[in-house]
Amino acid sequence: MAKHIFVTGGVVSSLGKGLTSAAIGLILERRGFTVSLQKLDPYINVDPGTMSPYQHGEVYVTDDGAETDLDLGHYERYTHARLSQSSNFTSGKIYSSVIAKERRGDYLGRTVQVIPHITDAIKEAIHQGAVDDVDVAITEIGGTVGDIESLPFLEAVRQFALDKERGEVMFLHVTLLPYLRASGEMKTKPTQQSVGKLREIGIQPDVLVCRTEQPMTTEMAQKISLFCNVRCEEVIEERDVAFSIYEVPVDLCRAGLDRLIIKKLGLPNPEAETNLSDWNEMLQELKEIKTECEIAVVGKYIKLHDAYKSIYESLAHAGYANRVKVKLRKISAEEVLVQGTSILEGVDGILIPGGFGERGLEGKIQAIRYARENEIPFFGICLGMQCAVIEYSRNQLGLAGAHTLEHSAHSPHPVISLMADQEDVDEKGGTMRLGAYPCTLRKGTLSHKLYGEEHISERHRHRFEFNNDYRARFEASGMVLAGINPESDLVEIVELPEHPFYVGVQFHPEFKSRPLQPHPIFKGFVGAALNHSLGGNNSGAPKVESLA
Ligand code: GLN
Repeated sequence: MAKHIFVTGGVVSSLGKGLTSAAIGLILERRGFTVSLQKLDPYINVDPGTMSPYQHGEVYVTDDGAETDLDLGHYERYTHARLSQSSNFTSGKIYSSVIAKERRGDYLGRTVQVIPHITDAIKEAIHQGAVDDVDVAITEIGGTVGDIESLPFLEAVRQFALDKERGEVMFLHVTLLPYLRASGEMKTKPTQQSVGKLREIGIQPDVLVCRTEQPMTTEMAQKISLFCNVRCEEVIEERDVAFSIYEVPVDLCRAGLDRLIIKKLGLPNPEAETNLSDWNEMLQELKEIKTECEIAVVGKYIKLHDAYKSIYESLAHAGYANRVKVKLRKISAEEVLVQGTSILEGVDGILIPGGFGERGLEGKIQAIRYARENEIPFFGICLGMQCAVIEYSRNQLGLAGAHTLEHSAHSPHPVISLMADQEDVDEKGGTMRLGAYPCTLRKGTLSHKLYGEEHISERHRHRFEFNNDYRARFEASGMVLAGINPESDLVEIVELPEHPFYVGVQFHPEFKSRPLQPHPIFKGFVGAALNHSLGGNNSGAPKVESLA
């Protein structure tokens, strides 16, 4: 039976609970334990798939097609936990399952209430998240303690702990020690109050992880200990990282969190060192990298870093693999129309991420044309690939008015069309082509060389696709359809072999990149950008000799 760690947050949101949870997962794996990770989100949306990235950041997609919170991206980048539909529950998802049961008559005769029906459903969800007989199941509770909507979740985990033996469940509260610049001091009061709120609900945290800008002194830890009813050594500092988010697990171990967790949960070998040698080596090498290349990310939600979180992380992983620091030039696609492509001058690579809606679309298309004509490495993801197909149609194939049916119902050349199985879909939530699908790579293409294999699997989230009616015209013109779904015959990858690096993919490779296992296309793209920055005129990626 799994032991459980519940991670709550106090004082403010955006404290990095997701990163902390992921880091704990990594630490436990490095001590030989298996983990699962799960996020409970108090909002009413059934999943974040219907929210704007500006509301919520990116929507992270699992292999089994769950549209989830971006914290699950951290979980997968840090650990080997197998994430699925059961790894992210919202209030909306919990309530809709309870209401469906009520309509079916499962509760006949009874009044359906938050306690016990909603809390029972939450407890069931926690059991579902702890898959594969893992040693430790980590559950992060979104929101901030004290919010009205997170109450049922906190009540449910309190009850959950009651059903377990002591030492089988641990509560870790991530909190903030704000620094007041004017008086030059850090304050513990908000932490005291948020722990007070937790204790009112009946949860006594076992460990406090204190987010700070400045070092936490022993006196402060003692004060927190006294007011919050935790031992001094159970007050752990998690200071802002200076350099990379991948420092978090290292810092937490340095602060003693690893041993504390092992002891609290009664797991074996509490005195052993956590083996983070490769992780430390990576951080050390990252610090020493001096070479830089600059990559433009031209998107619609550019003001919010979280909107393209996994893409930025994947670029960083690929940077490490190529021993180059990737500088980002974040460009709003609409600005390309206002300022012209001069806004892109000097960049070594251009990446167009996925997206929805018409705003910025023509700016993305212009940026792609600039990359194609000026031989700047180009990487298009999902909508980015669709824009590449439109650009190429209009400017190389002479298909005036070529467009996507998503935005132009009457285009004379709908080179991007609606997938057949989407035609009768009316509801927006959870109805896209979602999750992992196989793709066969054409031998001899750049993608085939980058992956080093013929059969791959990648995750999707879209409704529109390359229109196969135009396939012959593309192939005759020199654009290579490098990856095809073997079952549905959908085009998943386009390439221009004459270009130093030009790859558009219908899927989302950014969901599968990890710091020490960069995604092959990202690695190739950043390699090509590095080569561009050094004045090279080929991709640095393996050259395509002949197409099979
Ligand atoms: N809007 C496009 C589609 O639905 C692309 C989606 C995406 O980029 N994730 O096909």
